[in-house]
Amino acid sequence: MALLQISEPGQSPDPHRHRVALGIDLGTTHSLVAVVRSGVAECLPDAQGRVLLPSAVRYPDGDAIRVGWDAMAARIDDPINTVVSAKRLMGRAVADVDPATLSYRLEARQGIVAMRTAHGVKTPIDVAADILRALRERAEAALGDDIVGAVITVPAYFDDAQRQATKDAARLAGLNVLRLINEPTAAAVAYGLDQGAEGVYAVFDLGGGTFDVSVLRLSRGVFEVIATGGDTALGGDDFDARLAELLARRAGLVGLDARARAALLGAARSAKEALSDAPYADVVLDLGDGRRVDTRVDRDAFAYCTRALTERTIALLESVLRDASLPADSLAGIVLVGGSTRMPVVRDAVRAFFGRAPLTDLDPDQVVAIGAARQAHALAGNAGDDPLLLDVIPLSLGLETMGGLVERVIERNTTIPTARAQDFTTFKDGQTAIAIHVVQGERELVSACRSLARFELRGIPPMPAGAARVRVTFQVDADGLLEVSARELGSGVQAQVAVKPSYGLSDDAIADMLRAGQTAADADARQRALREEQVEGERLLEATRGAMHADADLLDSAERDRIHAAMAALAAAMRGDDHLLIRDASAALAKATEGFAAQRMNRSIRQALAGRSVDSIAAQVGPDAREPRN
Ligand code: ADP
Ligand code: MG
Repeated sequence: MALLQISEPGQSPDPHRHRVALGIDLGTTHSLVAVVRSGVAECLPDAQGRVLLPSAVRYPDGDAIRVGWDAMAARIDDPINTVVSAKRLMGRAVADVDPATLSYRLEARQGIVAMRTAHGVKTPIDVAADILRALRERAEAALGDDIVGAVITVPAYFDDAQRQATKDAARLAGLNVLRLINEPTAAAVAYGLDQGAEGVYAVFDLGGGTFDVSVLRLSRGVFEVIATGGDTALGGDDFDARLAELLARRAGLVGLDARARAALLGAARSAKEALSDAPYADVVLDLGDGRRVDTRVDRDAFAYCTRALTERTIALLESVLRDASLPADSLAGIVLVGGSTRMPVVRDAVRAFFGRAPLTDLDPDQVVAIGAARQAHALAGNAGDDPLLLDVIPLSLGLETMGGLVERVIERNTTIPTARAQDFTTFKDGQTAIAIHVVQGERELVSACRSLARFELRGIPPMPAGAARVRVTFQVDADGLLEVSARELGSGVQAQVAVKPSYGLSDDAIADMLRAGQTAADADARQRALREEQVEGERLLEATRGAMHADADLLDSAERDRIHAAMAALAAAMRGDDHLLIRDASAALAKATEGFAAQRMNRSIRQALAGRSVDSIAAQVGPDAREPRN
């Protein structure tokens, strides 16, 4: 992720006419809208002067939809029709969600999670659209209806499906999406531009439902992201849940219904927030039916019951720094973002880890929206020197090749937009189609990666194995959406696929894929070496069989026996799992066929000189050509 300074050509010379573009932080817990006015980025308040809009929507029986504070207030009385934290469900399948953690009723809609409410079935996209519509209306009330579009922020870990879902929501809300950007990147923009400080920074964003860490290098207005990581299923909600457990234990509460659970979580959250400013908090809660909570929680008790969560944020922070090969003391600073970084336990843990105080100059609730507003302002063509920023790909993208191996085409942490092409070839003589299987992940084996899309390139003219040149191009646009195309260069036949949102990968799964990739690296490398030798051995056997069939008359019986023996030895080695043995057997077979190959070559040349076609000469596979699965 890098921020490039791009001046907008042909922009309006009239300095008084600005094109208004919004920056929107569509948060799990809170959402905000900000705009740059007279050069200053500011969050827009509602009629009551509040800039935060709770990301809650109530779909009540016989009444209009309510968004924000009203919905939050109704959460306890009408939990079934009040949707909170819907962002956690974006792009998720029913199987990924534990209904016990939610107060509303879930339903599957073509495999996608949806909520059954008094206003009908609502998908997370519908809920996000209702929140975005409320923010758009707030902005229109303040700015008029000259709004050209919005930059909307998403967690760094959002995959294609989740980004697409966010765009769909914006479209439903009547917003033109100028760009989606990662939340920590937006925070970096807000800090970088406001302070002009140079060096390497970590952005630590702990919100209500997501945790993002990014390491960014800032120099002369250009930001480059060195690494990203985190966990989109870790946030303030989890701290609430741990404290709620403590309260329930103390009060001896078991078997709570949805309403009581929501009330208890609400009380836990209030106590948690109070503990950020006070040494203790009193929790008094009447659940009706004689059940009560009446207790005092101090900071030590809170720190104790949430310790595992705090430790996990630090462990994730460490692993991102390791990814970037950066010792903690090489950072110029660490930026705290997100309401949950107000908790002293979190600040203390970050301070202890770095051995110095983190930066908290900007309001941690507003910093993401403010960065987004600056980007929106620049993208709308207003800015002379505001940067346009580019993000990175969170998980590597690649193709399946022979042997079930992954050939990475775009590495993770590559800046987007980007396009990369790689040439592949056919594995068999006369092969007229190849299957392209696009995968995502850090593992060497396809079976351990996530399948994104499959398509076929057909109509390749029959050629000897290795003669076709198929160029596969991966193109990722500024929003992280992927298009893959394949083209056979000789004949020009081509096929392509835009990776459709494949709903169903949970946020945890993405984090797990990153972790698994790190821990399995050695085993994967061994597997890869074995599969590669097996594929190479198979190719050699095929080619030798074909050549012996075509030019049998060139061989005397001793030579034929020698080659057969080498082939048998290779076939035997390939049944085992020692890649060195296979490699040696392949080399032995290549050596055994040297004389034969030379004779075939001579014959081909004689035929060519005699005016015969050279098409029958078996082409050699180039050293850089790989064979996609066929
Ligand atoms: P998101 O980005 O997920 O929308 P926010 O950045 O708005 O989240 O953070 C929301 C979280 O911050 C909630 O869990 C909320 O309880 C927590 N929070 C807000 N203020 C405080 C506070 N003073 N102390 C502790 N946590 C807080
Ligand atoms: Mg946030």
